[in-house]
Amino acid sequence: MQGQCLCGAVSYEVEGKPQGASVCHCSQCRRQSGHLWASAYVLEDLITIKGPVRWFEASEEARRGFCPKCGSSLFWQAHDEDTISFSLGSLNDDSEIKLQKHIFVASKGDYYDIADGLPIVGES
Ligand SMILES: [Zn+2]
Repeated sequence: MQGQCLCGAVSYEVEGKPQGASVCHCSQCRRQSGHLWASAYVLEDLITIKGPVRWFEASEEARRGFCPKCGSSLFWQAHDEDTISFSLGSLNDDSEIKLQKHIFVASKGDYYDIADGLPIVGES
C-alpha cells in the first residue's frame, strides 16, 4: 500500500500488514495534525520512505516525520522501537485497515465527543 503527503514530495510504500490502527488524542498529535491523528504501524524494514522527509524531535521518546514543503504530518517513531507509524489519512487507496481504538483520550479536546463505539484506552 502506498501513501503520500499533500504536495507529493514525500511518499512511502508499506509491505505487509499494518497493525494497531488507532486514533490518538494526545496534545502533540492534536497540535501537529490540527485535530486527531489516525495511524497504524509496521516494522521499519517494511516501509520505504521517498523524498525529503524531515523529522521533528517531538519528545525524548519519539520523533515525528513531516513533509518540509507542504507540512503534512506523515510518520511517528519511538526511539526505542523498531516500528514506524504512518498516518491513515495519507494513504492513496483503499487500505482494508479498520480503526481499532482511541488512545490518550485523557488529553482529548473538549470540543468533540467520541461516538463511534470503539474501545477507549488511556482515559485516566
Ligand atoms: Zn508535501
